[in-house]
Amino acid sequence: MPTTPVLVFNCGSSSVKYQVIDVDSEAVWATGLVERVGEPQGGLTHRTGERTETVEAPIPDHATALELVVQAFRDWGPDLGQVVAVGHRAVHGGERFRAPTIIDQSVIDGLTELIGLAPLHNPPNIIGIQAARRALPQVPHVAVFDTAFFATLPPEAHTYAIDRQLALAHGIRKYGFHGTSHAYVSGKVAQVLGRDLGDFDQIVCHLGNGASISAVQGGVAVETSMGLTPLPGLVMGTRSGDIDPGVFAYLARVAGLDSGQVDELLNKSSGMAGLTGGLSDFRDIRARIDQGDPDAQLAFDVYIHRLVAYIGSYLALLGGVDALSFTAGVGENDSFVRQAVCDRLAPLGFVLDPQANAVRSGQPRVISASQSPVTILVVPTNEELALARDTVAAIGIRS
Ligand code: AMP
Repeated sequence: MPTTPVLVFNCGSSSVKYQVIDVDSEAVWATGLVERVGEPQGGLTHRTGERTETVEAPIPDHATALELVVQAFRDWGPDLGQVVAVGHRAVHGGERFRAPTIIDQSVIDGLTELIGLAPLHNPPNIIGIQAARRALPQVPHVAVFDTAFFATLPPEAHTYAIDRQLALAHGIRKYGFHGTSHAYVSGKVAQVLGRDLGDFDQIVCHLGNGASISAVQGGVAVETSMGLTPLPGLVMGTRSGDIDPGVFAYLARVAGLDSGQVDELLNKSSGMAGLTGGLSDFRDIRARIDQGDPDAQLAFDVYIHRLVAYIGSYLALLGGVDALSFTAGVGENDSFVRQAVCDRLAPLGFVLDPQANAVRSGQPRVISASQSPVTILVVPTNEELALARDTVAAIGIRS
């Protein structure tokens, strides 16, 4: 049985997640997480099969984190000599990177030029990529961009109605994020339905701590809810999603907040957390709703209202859809969210089967009633597998 193992990295500001995945069998050979990078005491967890190993150590920077990862593979396997390539999740590709790209110095330079567009995400990506290339110089490294799936948005979807010259000068437009997940899930929907991806239209709801929705026409993304940054669109765990842009100037005037403070407010302490006094996890919010907490109920209602409005608008843009799918932490696990959304949308052809909706299987599955005009699905996302596949495709191996 041939194998095509790929090491994938997702470097966040204070963490490094990694997996070795065999793209042929989709088997995960190892998975790991380095946490609290940059803090006095960090930790690594490395899992292979049933075995879990942990290391506690100071991890001052991403280079140290990567050294620990390589050492973990040496100590506990699998042998990294087997991997054919390393794939890196890269958050913002701007207008330049529209597809998975083999990394060389010019790509690093390009990512560095894009730091202004993604000041929180691109720097740890770059540091992680550089450290990984030093640690594993013998194999190609590929950057897979969160924005790439949305490179197909038509101009009327990605253009903001602001001064054209200013927008062009600074690359101000909608880019979209979570593309790897939207691409994976839309493909999986086609597989589950036994249809050709190019033959039907669908809406994908990626509802995790971050949340976004996409309209996919024959496999091609034509609209999405995130923008220049991952802030707009749906209500999220700690991000506001859509808000009147006038709020920025108003807050500056009435509350004396500067742009950094407004950015922090809208990204870190808004969304469900802002509405509930700090709860961003839907399990906690559900428990509060069950206790009769009106703030938690309002937060839930705002979340559903926004989501229903987006689905309705994408339905209109596509002129009808065949499938609606839910993915990521909330989308895969929270049957109340799915029920509440579909209750509102039933008159438009989204009819849930309550029993199927209540099942938790961890598998892709249809949850709509047999007579539902639109097929509704839960599809667990697998960004790591999608990343590994894109990496293999970029280096020209067919698996
Ligand atoms: P993600 O960003 O995809 O990892 O999603 C994380 C979010 O998923 C958490 O903040 C929770 O709100 C939500 N979540 C995870 N597990 C559950 C669950 N069993 N029920 C409801 N929500 C969940």
